[in-house]
Amino acid sequence: MSQQHFGLIGLAVMGENLALNVERNGFSVAVFNRTPTKTEEFMANRAGGRNFKATYSLEELVASLERPRRILAMVKAGQPVDDLIQQLKPLLEPGDILIDGGNSLYTDTERRVKELEADGLCFFGMGVSGGEEGALNGPSLMPGGSTDAYKALEPILTKIAAQVDDGPCVTYIGPGGAGHFVKMVHNGIEYGDMQLIAEAYDLLKNTLGLNHEQLYEVFAEWNETPELNSFLIEITRDIFKYIDPDTNLPLVDVVLDAAAQKGTGKWTVEASLDLGVAIPTIVAAVNARIMSSIKAERVAASQEITGPTGKYEGDTQTFINKIRDALYCSKICSYAQGMALIGRASKDLFNNALDLGETARIWKGGCIIRAGFLNKIKQAYDQNPNLANLLLAPEFKQTILDKQGAWREVLIEATRLGISVPAFGASLEYFDSYRRARLPQNLTQAQRDFFGAHTYERTDKPGHFHTEWVPIE
Ligand code: NAP
Repeated sequence: MSQQHFGLIGLAVMGENLALNVERNGFSVAVFNRTPTKTEEFMANRAGGRNFKATYSLEELVASLERPRRILAMVKAGQPVDDLIQQLKPLLEPGDILIDGGNSLYTDTERRVKELEADGLCFFGMGVSGGEEGALNGPSLMPGGSTDAYKALEPILTKIAAQVDDGPCVTYIGPGGAGHFVKMVHNGIEYGDMQLIAEAYDLLKNTLGLNHEQLYEVFAEWNETPELNSFLIEITRDIFKYIDPDTNLPLVDVVLDAAAQKGTGKWTVEASLDLGVAIPTIVAAVNARIMSSIKAERVAASQEITGPTGKYEGDTQTFINKIRDALYCSKICSYAQGMALIGRASKDLFNNALDLGETARIWKGGCIIRAGFLNKIKQAYDQNPNLANLLLAPEFKQTILDKQGAWREVLIEATRLGISVPAFGASLEYFDSYRRARLPQNLTQAQRDFFGAHTYERTDKPGHFHTEWVPIE
């Protein structure tokens, strides 16, 4: 019997749909799941008459594949990946490639690459974005690891990825854990986007009093603009249309305001601290989810602590437009931070291999942050691959110059009316810090030298100085 082209381990939501995607694109697939009933269900319900082979042990899976073997693991991130490696390692042969398509921490991927390399095996970390729908119809893929392995995988990956105007949403990202690093930052940016949209919604609803039908209209209109057209704005629009059959209310009004998280936002923040790159919008988004999760405490506090309330008193449409502008400016800042983080990681961790323009391009389709706006980011890096920060790209610079008045007014109004907009605020702070030649950290340095003799540098001559800060009479 002929050998299968591709192996897939883990038939949960992502694995099942990726298996179907790979097979639909002309590759036979051997599938395996730890719990055999899932494999049986998959074969009975979704695989009918197609080019799949069910296997019920890792030995059977490995034996069924053509060499060098290409096996994609879509299992729970963390210890399950290590457990799987331990079971698979004795069965694989030099040249075989094990791809981890889960949301693994990039440092785990780096460790696993080294561990398997020592045995002549290839471990390949690939970020997969787009959820269930993307997995089935075309995800954005962020593969990292050895270039030889990428060459062996490229014919499959380019076919299964989402296709956009300038090619498939996949590119070789870089060595080691680079693919998982970029996927992690993608998720951090996703946190930022979602929080910014939530803040725009909060302002529209609570300073202007828009109802769900008006919210639908606003998001429908924003989704038609080249600046904001995106998957997340589109689904936000549709969320406002959904009426809960139990209560006859818009379902979103009945959803508990406590956001969960699986950890990739936190990892992005941790990586930014390790690499020394400021990503305040993404930090604000993670913190906002944490604040939202202490629901009972907030409800109790709301009985005891008061602040300003009230509605915006000016022209509604004018303020809607200002919120739109504030959202767009904040989004630019958020992406500037994410790209700066990837840029620093490229230099410090991945031998300058990461291509920021290509990264923006492969996010144009298949993934949760897909947006027309990513084209502008790609163009910015095409025009200047050495761009220090997206805020310096001519188009983004001009946009913020044009819209910063509206952005500031929105923040002033939010503050006046007591609506917290942490990600809008963090974005503006990022912009105002980045654009100022002199910040007040001269005072911080003076304090550090005063209490700890940490020394400081001067603006007028080179060297490190220490002063006994007792005032000179
Ligand atoms: P999941 O719930 O994260 O994982 C379930 C799968 O992992 C099942 O097939 C399960 O097998 C298997 N598994 C768990 N522990 C195992 C172990 N010790 N050994 C072998 N297999 C084990 O599934 P998912 O949502 O499809 O996600 C898969 C990966 O993709 C995760 O890393 C996830 O973070 C990532 N991801 C998910 C999404 C999404 O939208 N869901 C999007 C992008 C990336 P059993 O059936 O035997 O329990």
